[in-house]
Parts: sequence; C-alpha cells; structure tokens
Amino acid sequence: MPGPTLVWLRQDLRLADQPALHAAVERGGAVIPVFIHAPDEDLQWAPGAASNWWLHHSLQSLNEALNKAGSPLVVRAGPSLDTLRELVVETGAEAVYWNRVYEPARVLRDQGIKAGLRADGLEVRSFNAALLIEPWDVETGQGGPYRVFTPFWRACLQRGIEQDPLPAPSRLPGPEKPPASLTLDDLALLPRIDWAAGLRATWAPGERGAQARLERFLGQSITGYADSRDRPDQDGTSGLSPHLHFGEVSPRQVLRALRDANISLEHKGPESFVRELGWRDFAHHVLYHFPHTPEQPLNPRFEDFPWRESEADLAAWQQGRTGIPIVDAAMRQLWETGWMHNRLRMVVGSFLTKNLRLHWVHGARWFWDTLVDADLASNTLGWQWAGGCGADAAPYFRIFNPQRQGEQYDPDGRFVRRFLPVLKKTETRYIHAPGAGGTLGYPAPIVDLKASRQAALEAFEAIKNTSTSQTKSSSKAQT
Ligand code: FAD
Repeated sequence: MPGPTLVWLRQDLRLADQPALHAAVERGGAVIPVFIHAPDEDLQWAPGAASNWWLHHSLQSLNEALNKAGSPLVVRAGPSLDTLRELVVETGAEAVYWNRVYEPARVLRDQGIKAGLRADGLEVRSFNAALLIEPWDVETGQGGPYRVFTPFWRACLQRGIEQDPLPAPSRLPGPEKPPASLTLDDLALLPRIDWAAGLRATWAPGERGAQARLERFLGQSITGYADSRDRPDQDGTSGLSPHLHFGEVSPRQVLRALRDANISLEHKGPESFVRELGWRDFAHHVLYHFPHTPEQPLNPRFEDFPWRESEADLAAWQQGRTGIPIVDAAMRQLWETGWMHNRLRMVVGSFLTKNLRLHWVHGARWFWDTLVDADLASNTLGWQWAGGCGADAAPYFRIFNPQRQGEQYDPDGRFVRRFLPVLKKTETRYIHAPGAGGTLGYPAPIVDLKASRQAALEAFEAIKNTSTSQTKSSSKAQT
C-alpha cells in the first residue's frame, strides 16, 4: 500500500471534478486534504475582507463534505513549504498533489515548493482544475501571448474547450491518525465587527451553494442571457463568479451542466454565456504572461498619464456619495452584497478613471477588499479595461456617460431605488439625474460630467503619441 498523499487545497474547494483529489484516490493509500493559510505569500494582494468572509464559509462547507467522505480537512497556518514539510514528517506522506493557481506571486511560490519537495524525494504533481484553457495552451501565430480576446477565444474553440468533469470520490481513505488541525476560527477570517449581514443574505458559499446557483441560472436566465446580461435591474446573470473564483464549481462542470440540460451552445444566450467564461480564461492568460499588470498598465503609454490625486473624491466614490445615482447605487450594491453587476463595474470604473481621473489601481484595490469574487486576473483585466490601458481595453477616449448608462440599462430606475432608498419616490424621468429634476435632499454631482470628460480627453492627448512598442512580458513554466 502506498504511503499517504497530501492534497494541498487552495482555489479548488470542491469534491467533484477535483483532479488532485481524484489522482490521490487513484494512487491508493490515505488521502489527507490540507488547507494552509499563508496570506503573506500573496505579497501586495493578500485576500481582502469580503474574500476572507467567503473563504471561511467555503472551508466550513468543504470540511463537512470531506468529513462525510472519510478524511477531514487539516487546517494549518504558516509558510506553505515549511508547513507541507512538517505534515510530510508527521504523516509519512510520500506524495503531494495540488491544482494549479495562476497569480504571479503564487506561481513563483509553487515553482519553489515543487522543486523543494521533489528534492526531498516526494512525488509532486499539479493539475488544471480552474480553467478551460490554461495560459500556455494557446499562442498567437507569432508564438506569443494574446492581447485581444476574439482571436484568443477562436484559438481556444479550435483547440476544444470541453472535457469530461471527474466524478466526486465516493469515499476518501483517511489516515490512521489524522494530523492536528487548527479550527477555522483560529484563522480569524471573519470580520471582528459584523458587517456581513448583506453577504449572508445574498450568498451560500460552498459546493452545494454553487450547484444550486448554477441550476437556478440554467432554469431561469440562460435563454435570455444575451439580452438581460446588461441589465442590473434584472436577475439576468449567473452570479457564479465567487463560486468559480474559489473553485466550488469548475468551468468544465458548467459546460457539462449546459449539455445535460440540453441547452445548445449554438443559441445566442448560452453562446454568449460561455464566451464570458472565455473572458475569465483570457484574464488568466493575460495575467500569467504579463505578471506586472496588477500594478502597471499593459500599455506603457499610460505610465505617464496625468492621474489626479484626491482622497475626498476617492472616498465619495467608495462610499457611493458622488451625486450620480447609478454610480452611487452600484457602489452601495458592492458594499452591501460583496458583488456588483458587470455593466456597473464598467460604469463606476469609467467614472473613477475618466470623470474623476483617479488611478485605476485605486479602484482595483477597493474592489479587491469589497468583492466576494475578487480575482487578481479578472479584476486586473477589468480595471485596465476601464482605464483604457489594458488588453483589449475600451479606448480611453470612449467615456461612458453614467447618466445615460443608467437610463439605458435601468430604465425604470428599479435598481437605483433598491440601493438608494432616499430616491424611492423620485419620478422615473428624474431618477438618473436627480440634480436636474430638483429632487430635494440628494447631493449634487461631485464633478461636472461634461467638463470632466473634456479634461480626461485633454489628458489623454498628452500621452497619445508616446511610443507603445515596448510592452513588458514574461512567460513562466507551469506549476
Ligand atoms: P456572468 O455574466 O454570469 O458570467 C459567467 C462567468 O463568466 C462569471 O461568473 C465570471 O467568472 C466570468 N466572467 C464574466 N464576465 C467576465 C469578464 N468581463 N472578465 C472575466 N470573467 C468574466 N470578475 C471576477 O470574477 N472577479 C473580479 O474581481 C472582477 N473584477 C472586475 C472589475 C472590473 C472593473 C470589471 C469591469 C469587471 C470585473 N470582473 C470581475 C468581471 C465581471 O464583472 C464579473 O465576472 C461578473 O460581473 C460576475 O457576475 P456573474 O457571475 O453573474 O457573471
């Protein structure tokens, strides 16, 4: 009988379609699932408060499932390599398996850990559990990474994105003597002052919650997704992003669920939904090949962009006090629920980086702390898109008019009224511009939309002709 296998869990908090766990069971011997809390290893991007809330509950749910299957979760805190080595000594493990992650700091860490454990004589294997296409699976005709989504996605589709998900193990052979474990409370992931009521009311972290959300989406919204996905006043998108981020469901399982429900990927709704999963893979592709992008623009021209600094404006944006109802309602949705509709992420991103002309990294950092789906790949891509400086980004000179966005995508003001009760009784024709309608009590906009748009265009003119030929890049071996 082979010695035990440690399965190091990170962003793959599920039992079904879990390649590392599956391979450990196939190998034979005891299977010991391990979670190591090591936020320092994420350098400047340690998980924020909303992510930690989710992680606590996701681990709780995973632990229940693992317990039932026969091998409870071992929770430790400390440097990952040292902790894995300690566990190897304590358990006599002969192998360590994990599913890959793609954040630059974690890629480097995992490369070092793989080399270190192999040098110790252990069998080490890593797997893809998170993506349809891993960052190194496709390349341009010239042999480099993609920076534009459409050819990237075409290459993915040509390669083939569907793969059978793995079944959940019916039983996990646990070790004779389970190693000591911290409790989840020891990790202190939950907020000390409880601000999470809105999160609790909105989400059910864990594999079961993910499956329930997927089923609901396939039953109710997928057919009309192509049209309703832009409407924050409707429940038109899947809400799967935090579940996908924490690996409570895999994109392979999502594709399989579409097939099982006889939903043709040729139809407009499902086709555009699967394309969004493609954007998620694209975000990982870009982050992996351009690891400097969480802090620096992909388009180097923007290194000299004349961003403004204003703590007061940033605070007004963060707290939903800009005087622009659709922006304020969106920022309050984020604060209350830990999530924001994609259309509104674009609107508030444009408002911050163009009307307020504040650096997109300020926006990325606020989202990082407040989103339950905060994801370094998708958040970086989204913010560089909003700031006009990233891969396949909105050109900087295309500036959303938030008032018009509100009128177009929240035409009856239902969304605004939900998150800004102070405007509940405002007539619909004034709901997106209460200043203009003379609504008493609502603050005036902190910037003039027209003048700030013009100022942004002039700032862009100043950097427009800077050379763009030098883009930093680096490719890494897989971990
Ligand atoms: P659906 O419309 O149901 O889409 C299905 C899945 O596809 C999503 O769950 C998500 O995993 C993926 N997806 C959809 N749109 C995108 C996209 N534009 N880029 C990458 N993946 C996408 N998404 C995150 O998961 N984490 C983030 O931190 C994040 N930050 C963002 C910041 C900005 C400024 C912008 C503009 C977008 C950001 N997004 C981020 C992308 C997108 O807004 C969310 O993925 C989406 O709103 C999640 O809702 P949903 O699950 O209902 O999406």
